Amino acid sequence: MRVVYDSRHVLHDPTTEVQYGVPMHMYEVPARVESIRAALLADDEFSFTNPTEHGLGPVTAVHHEGLVRFLADAWSLWRIQGGGGGAMPPQYLPDTVLHPAIREGMGPAREPSAAMGRIGYWCWETMTPLVVGSYQAARGAVDVALTAADLVLAGDRTAYGLARPPGHHCPRSAFGGYGLLNYSAVATAYLAEQLGRVAVLDVDYHHGNGTQQIFYHRDDVLYVSLHADPDRAYPYFAGWADERGAATGEGFTLNLPLPAGCTNADYLAALETGLERIAEHAAAALVVSLGLDTYGQDPIADFALSTDVYYEVGRRVASLGLPTLVLQEGGYFVPKLGENARTWLRGLLGSPLDLRATPN
Ligand SMILES: [Zn+2]
Repeated sequence: MRVVYDSRHVLHDPTTEVQYGVPMHMYEVPARVESIRAALLADDEFSFTNPTEHGLGPVTAVHHEGLVRFLADAWSLWRIQGGGGGAMPPQYLPDTVLHPAIREGMGPAREPSAAMGRIGYWCWETMTPLVVGSYQAARGAVDVALTAADLVLAGDRTAYGLARPPGHHCPRSAFGGYGLLNYSAVATAYLAEQLGRVAVLDVDYHHGNGTQQIFYHRDDVLYVSLHADPDRAYPYFAGWADERGAATGEGFTLNLPLPAGCTNADYLAALETGLERIAEHAAAALVVSLGLDTYGQDPIADFALSTDVYYEVGRRVASLGLPTLVLQEGGYFVPKLGENARTWLRGLLGSPLDLRATPN
């Protein structure tokens, strides 16, 4: 399996996020991707390749041009307007799910000139600060995803884009949830434009609210997600089972929310439901948003999955018989991230494991 990787991801490295009102070290760190890279480099089943530049066309096919423009300009604007410190934090969110009451009955907010206002206008929550290299990292992640998509278009049965920060929480006109640009959605739209029907299987612990929103009105892209019930877990405001798509997209979103403590067996049962729906879609290709924060020891999640189940999940996904693009999303227990990713991908390949080759 070919793995597309780009070192620009290290340029996005904020040091602090706020959880339950307490500043703490970011969970979403460069070591995540580097640990997966190390595990795959030690395994002959995987070969690494660099991404190629794809420009902004595929990005603005999915994202609002104003969002992309803001991310490109944000850091220099912040500095020019007197912003200090090593990161630019979103603080004022005028028109999102967090503060919809501010403009209730008055129509949508408009984009101000001030950097502090602009970041609130284009971000939907407060956990995703920007730093000097964030935009370059975001563009690198998109190029990773699109280059991996090119491998599938050229005939590879599987390809893996090893990227961060994860993008599936980014809807068309906002960033957030650690993410900057939704590279899974960008690659999915790119494949759909060339192949027709495409399915997305999002197995991150958190619901991919951004990807769901981007394709919610479309019937060519099926979105299936297994995730923690939003009644108790982030992103809280999307991922309910009765969100099924709208207009021509009605029936082309399938949410499978799961309880705390979800076991391997319960997870595989939900996966079967998702795979049956994907099989009905008659897609030309599958995109997997591979979050590994479903692991039992993940610090920001509450499922109980073990490493061995990832082989079985990958194996069952392969049984669909579809060309499959796997893109890395979340997963925050770094000591096991490489082994878990490698196990999942080995399952997709149907290639028996020799865990002695795993360095971590
Ligand atoms: Zn996640």
